[in-house]
Amino acid sequence: MSFQTHYKYLIIGAGIHGLSTAFHLAKELRLKKQGSGKDILVIDKSAIGAGASGIACGIIRNNYYQPAMQELIAHSVSRWEEDAEGYGYLPVGYMQISPESMHEDVAEIYGRQKDISYESEFIEGEKDCLRYMRDKVFDDWQAENITSILHEKRGGYAQNARSLYRLADKAEAERARIVTGVEVTGFLDNGYLKGVETTRGNIQCDCVIIGAGPWVENFWKMLDLPERIDIKDGDGKVHKDIRMWTFWCLQEGTLGVKPAYGMDNRGKMPPVIHVDTDAPLHSSEDGSLITDEMWGIYYKPDFNFRGIQGGSMPSKVEKKEVKVDPYGIDSPDFVVGVEFTHMWTSALAHCQKRYEDKYLRYKDEPSGGLGAFSPDSFPIFDFVKENCYLIADSSHGYKMIGVGDLVAKEIMGEEQTLLKPFRFDRYEKGELLPESNSPFPWS
Ligand SMILES: Cc1cc2nc3c(=O)[nH]c(=O)nc-3n(C[C@H](O)[C@H](O)[C@H](O)COP(=O)(O)OP(=O)(O)OC[C@H]3O[C@@H](n4cnc5c(N)ncnc54)[C@H](O)[C@@H]3O)c2cc1C
Repeated sequence: MSFQTHYKYLIIGAGIHGLSTAFHLAKELRLKKQGSGKDILVIDKSAIGAGASGIACGIIRNNYYQPAMQELIAHSVSRWEEDAEGYGYLPVGYMQISPESMHEDVAEIYGRQKDISYESEFIEGEKDCLRYMRDKVFDDWQAENITSILHEKRGGYAQNARSLYRLADKAEAERARIVTGVEVTGFLDNGYLKGVETTRGNIQCDCVIIGAGPWVENFWKMLDLPERIDIKDGDGKVHKDIRMWTFWCLQEGTLGVKPAYGMDNRGKMPPVIHVDTDAPLHSSEDGSLITDEMWGIYYKPDFNFRGIQGGSMPSKVEKKEVKVDPYGIDSPDFVVGVEFTHMWTSALAHCQKRYEDKYLRYKDEPSGGLGAFSPDSFPIFDFVKENCYLIADSSHGYKMIGVGDLVAKEIMGEEQTLLKPFRFDRYEKGELLPESNSPFPWS
């Protein structure tokens, strides 16, 4: 075996969370003179970025209705800003463009952004919204039923592979070890986790940190945690026997025009655009009605994806048993199909005239992937056993580069206020995060 059989800290998963935790934990150990990166082993069954972090379209935004999410994301955005160049982070900003049914929620989000000094602008009223979009962003803007715009001046998007390899380099520079091609198959447990069983033998450790993204349910089962739980809502009502992990298919794709085609009125990279609306959506191909219910899309010109890249609302996977592997674009079941293409290209045309005849330029290549969601669709960051910490971000996570920093501190014994609202016992205690009126399960 090319690595030791005992490490103080074992991190499972080389995605955004595993790598960020490895880097920050190594730094903390060195600064506090309690060890070094040499005490840390990161293992992954496949490769760096083989999971959701490697296929995420990389959007970094803070239009969350939940105050705890807003504060946590603001922390992460600061981490992106610390090394924007290294992570391939483009701070172009983000626009939440909404219909009247979301106006009040978004106004609240704006108010709280002001409270935490997260820079943004709020535009209200149909005429002012149209004027703002046409004057300041796209002169061919034409989306209907828009009565508010939250323009976040921070955030934007980052290149997934670049940011992951940058984090891996930083962790290795702190002397942490990253080994790929090692799959965890079980835990060595005698009431207290002693380590893990892997396809390359047992590894003993004092503390395990799991950042397994869509594979979280496998670990949940290996740890004998409950597959179904009771949840108390805000009114004190207990909902019995709720499935712990469910899966949604995150639908994304790319329009194969040059990214320059999507630039703003100044010829520069625009903010990431997110539109939710209740305006009827018609096909840009034949004018037929696609939906007259609430719908939403997001998009950005992206040189990495070589086109206009974005997505729409995810679709729930109704199967009882969900096979996560093969993952991402290798999955025959969880990549987007023609329905998504039709909806998303028509929605682009609904928003901007320049896309009205561009549906044939959609890149017909596998895209999208599976995400695991907790019962309230928000993260769980917690010790699920005395010496086993779980980072389960419920598919919000690429943007959360700063969570690893906070988790490292918790591992070192310093409880973090920003992580407290995300403990597993919130379901039992009825301390759920508030729900918004967005058509997306994660806003
Ligand atoms: C299509 C798509 C688009 C997304 N877009 C965005 C976005 O724009 N912005 C955003 O903030 N979030 C986005 N997300 C969500 C985000 O990608 C995830 O929340 C985040 O990447 C999860 O990071 P992670 O490190 O926990 O897991 P992952 O990146 O999934 O990493 C988990 C790793 O664990 C490894 N692993 C699994 N099982 C084992 C095992 N038994 N033994 C060893 N290793 C194992 C896997 O190989 C994998 O590399 C998107 C998700 C998807 C699917």
